[in-house]
This record gives sequence, C-alpha cells and structure tokens, in this order.
Amino acid sequence: MKTGAVRSRMRALNLIELLVVLVVIGAIAVYIWPRYIGGKSSGPAKYTGPVTQARDTVCRSNLSQLRASIQALSASDPEGRAPQSLVDLGLPAEMQRCPTGGEPYRYDAATGRVQCPHPGHESY
Ligand SMILES: [Zn+2]
Repeated sequence: MKTGAVRSRMRALNLIELLVVLVVIGAIAVYIWPRYIGGKSSGPAKYTGPVTQARDTVCRSNLSQLRASIQALSASDPEGRAPQSLVDLGLPAEMQRCPTGGEPYRYDAATGRVQCPHPGHESY
C-alpha cells in the first residue's frame, strides 16, 4: 500500500516529466517550423524552407502558364488584343493567386502583362 506522501510525490514527478516533455516538443517545434514550414519567401529571409520554396516555384509556374495563355489568346484574336481579365483565360481560380501570400495577380489588359504583387515575387 502506498501512503499519501508517496502517492503525492509520484504525482509531482509525473507533472515534472510532463513539463519536460512539453518543453522538449516546444524546442523541437521552434527549431523545425521556420526551416520547413514558415519563413519568408525570397527577399532577405533568414530561412526559406522547402515548403516556401515549393510555393515560390508554383507561383513562377502559374505566372508562366498565365503568360502563355494570354499570348495564345492574343494571337487568336483578330485584332491581337489581350483578354480583358484573367477570368477570360478559363484557368482554375487557384492559378490566379499567389500560393505564398494569396494575393490575386495583377493584370494589365492594355499591355497583357501579369505580375505577382507578393513581396519578393515582383521579378517573376
Ligand atoms: Zn507570388
């Protein structure tokens, strides 16, 4: 039979063990999060993890496909005009936004130019 004092000491030990485990998990999360999930894309970020780099690549790919579609539609237009909006291209809605920041792409119907407004993506 365990006395009350021994049972109380064991409960306190379990709480300390739990706190140690939580601190270790927190330290691991703080170390891993910016490298693999968080971090700013492009620009002067300290860490750019693979997830951020993948989103940057998807943004470049989206812009490339949008430009090719705009060029194809302009070429098929008798007067060579660019489409009035990105919706006219008939591409999925998620291709008309930056996957990193979620901002809609800027499109100028007069020139047919499309750009990403996300900081660091202006040159894509
Ligand atoms: Zn972007």
